[in-house]
Amino acid sequence: MDRVYNFASGPAALPLEVLLKAQEQMLNYNGSGMSVLEMSHRSSAYLSIIEKTEADLREIMNIPKNYDVLFLQGGASLQFAMVPMNLMVNNKKADYINTGVWSSSAIKEAKKFGTVNVIASSEDKNFSYFPVITDDMISKDADYVHITSNNTIYGTKCGVFPKTANIPLVADMSSNIMSEVIDVNDFGLIYAGAQKNLGPAGVTLVIIRNDLSGKAPSNTPVMLDYKTHVEKGSMHNTPPAYAIYIMGLVLQWVKDNGGVPEMEKRNKEKAKILYDVIDNSKLFSAPAKKEDRSLMNVVFVTGNPDTDKKFVNQAKAKGLVTLAGHRSVGGLRASIYNAMTLEGVKTLADFIEKFDAENS
Ligand code: PMP
Repeated sequence: MDRVYNFASGPAALPLEVLLKAQEQMLNYNGSGMSVLEMSHRSSAYLSIIEKTEADLREIMNIPKNYDVLFLQGGASLQFAMVPMNLMVNNKKADYINTGVWSSSAIKEAKKFGTVNVIASSEDKNFSYFPVITDDMISKDADYVHITSNNTIYGTKCGVFPKTANIPLVADMSSNIMSEVIDVNDFGLIYAGAQKNLGPAGVTLVIIRNDLSGKAPSNTPVMLDYKTHVEKGSMHNTPPAYAIYIMGLVLQWVKDNGGVPEMEKRNKEKAKILYDVIDNSKLFSAPAKKEDRSLMNVVFVTGNPDTDKKFVNQAKAKGLVTLAGHRSVGGLRASIYNAMTLEGVKTLADFIEKFDAENS
């Protein structure tokens, strides 16, 4: 069967080159006579994989030396709890920005550990925009400020990150990490489930400034304490070894393709093609405020659930798959992470145009 253009929100399409490399190395990794799937995580062959993955990530994202890189499990959802467990420890207060389902889940979890101040929210307009956050909104006594940099379900993203001065900024970057150039120095902690822009499900990336680990209360379970993973180089227990290996291949692919600046250029081009065709159509509209539109998750609607369904089915027949919106909001969504090709986006744009002409 021919491969399809997969617009899934995550797990999502991976670069073909990565899949081919994994296929080539599946039975015998680098002369080891075994698959990475079968390899001891303490073997020298595996240690060189995880070390290179970290080194490449540091290079690609320009991660300063005073940050630790962790490969954890439990998804971004576990970070909703680990962040407050480890960081809500001084004044037991934190500021959160509520921009959708995932922020709301993070807020709900954080409330179990202390006081949450929701300092800005876009709930009043069904999360269709990203609120502006000014310096004076940040609580002076917050242990940290939490933001979701890209809202996978509503298709909005943060344009300008708040300046939080000496209060650590914590960002859930699950759905737009490595899609645009950022300065890691602006953040205390960044986390991201890998299954969108970094690799397969099963590994969660945490980038944490080194003064922020080691503060969790002494009754914190060992596995939920960042310090454990910092001290053991993500090897306290068996890490998600194969997922890290694939992440390593994805990072190599990013390097081979011009790094994050080139990803950003391509992502802007791809997103523009889709938003333009939606804006110029009679049938479709994009609910997200123009200035806040996500580069990764293009959310659009016809306003008629039956027409949306027809669109999804006809697109599928053309090899353009997973275009239904999140089950909580309906409508349509094309997730176009780094691995989605320009060709895939152009094919979808042509299909949207044709469907518009035939149905409006
Ligand atoms: N945050 C964001 C922005 C997400 O898009 C998702 C998942 N789609 C999550 C958190 C939850 O991630 P996980 O499934 O890895 O727990």
